[in-house]
Amino acid sequence: AQRNPNQPEFIQAVNEVIASIWPFLAQNPGYLQHGLLERLVEPERLVQFRVSWVNDLGQVQVNRGYRIQHSSAIGPIKGGMRFHPSVDLSVLKFLAFEQTLKNALTTLPMGGGKGGSDFNPKGKSEGEVMRFCQALMLELYRHLGANTDVPAGDIGVGGREVGYMAGMMKKLTNSAECVFTGKGLSFGGSLVRPEATGYGLLYFVEAMLANQAQSLAGMTVSVSGSGNVAQYAIEKAMELGACVITASDSDGTVYDPSGFTPEKLARLMELKNEQRKRVADYAFEMGLEYFSDRTPWHLPTQVALPCATQNELLEEDAVALIANGVLMVAEGANMPSSAEAIKAFHAAKVLFAPGKAANAGGVATSGLEMSQNAQRLSWSREKVDTRLKKIMQSIHATCVNYGMDEEGHVNYEDGANIAGFVKVADAMLAQGVY
Ligand code: NDP
Repeated sequence: AQRNPNQPEFIQAVNEVIASIWPFLAQNPGYLQHGLLERLVEPERLVQFRVSWVNDLGQVQVNRGYRIQHSSAIGPIKGGMRFHPSVDLSVLKFLAFEQTLKNALTTLPMGGGKGGSDFNPKGKSEGEVMRFCQALMLELYRHLGANTDVPAGDIGVGGREVGYMAGMMKKLTNSAECVFTGKGLSFGGSLVRPEATGYGLLYFVEAMLANQAQSLAGMTVSVSGSGNVAQYAIEKAMELGACVITASDSDGTVYDPSGFTPEKLARLMELKNEQRKRVADYAFEMGLEYFSDRTPWHLPTQVALPCATQNELLEEDAVALIANGVLMVAEGANMPSSAEAIKAFHAAKVLFAPGKAANAGGVATSGLEMSQNAQRLSWSREKVDTRLKKIMQSIHATCVNYGMDEEGHVNYEDGANIAGFVKVADAMLAQGVY
């Protein structure tokens, strides 16, 4: 904490991992040598820069841009860009640290990083978003490369923003190599990448349930958020026979006890993605109950899927979910559950899948996009989806392998943390101290 003042999210993420792997480290003291832990929690490189751009009124705007290149131990740096007013060093350092362990779990050769800006895309015109993305690339481009650092999207950065950044990158470097994933299909994107995080989350949930000889059919599912991850989590959960009763944004939650249908989801997606409207508008149009300023966690559900942002599920939410009989929680977002909430889930033996395992499908499919770009080929939808599903099943098996206790209960948090750590740590040890 002394080395990282005013970085509560980063400290929270590091504490969570170190506490979880500590018994394993005690049994394997080799990992406590060579300054390994000290090096693992220090980003390899971190850039912060000014982004100046001109808005539609002709006024100069100044934002902060960042890229945290946390670890290249197992491959080129890989991790998304986030545009949100809450973006600061603490948030991005936590995300880059988590990303490093997550990417290790995918089995693909990718290091970990994260970047973004405190730019708020809400209410900005098309032209403003494009000029901002281009201004940001004027600095960021020099830190990227197909074998160095390959960003993607995250909160506030979807296909549109990736397109503007990738286009500017091409212009500045006179090169069409793959330095962004999440690209549009017409310029090197991969089929299933937009769906991958949400779909992957549900493939992971399916594997967790199968491990308990259960299935999602007929189960009640609560989803938070209504962005990229949430939308495709809802879609796949419905496909697997679940009844999805909620969606949300930072203003509130819509409650639909009879569940989403493909038609309702299509309307929500149209409102959010094309008209850039709010969940409240959707609730009003559909005549559904809407809880202003509330998350979905007070409503009874069997499977809770937080898919919005960090620390959106607190201890009191966990207590409410447990009291209402929740069976499992799987994180579509990064670190949505607070440390106290996770503790409550473990104490109640609620199966809990941390984001670094459950939401790894997005970055895994980004890895597949990189492979397709390197081959100069586009794989079919079936091929990408099958690979994604296999990767999620293999991450699940790895978590079970490292996280099962003598009574057969799986602690997915420990399993994911230990497995990710071992992969990165072994690579770091093999490459010497630098
Ligand atoms: P989007 O920008 O598409 O959607 C974000 C959603 O979360 C919106 O509904 C947004 O509501 C809500 N949200 C954002 N910030 C807050 C906040 N402070 N309080 C409450 N709600 C908030 O982002 P994604 O769906 O891509 O990302 C969601 C989460 O999933 C993030 O944690 C991200 O890191 C993680 N993730 C994303 C991956 C991807 O492939 N996209 C991969 C792996 C993880 P509002 O419109 O009100 O802001």
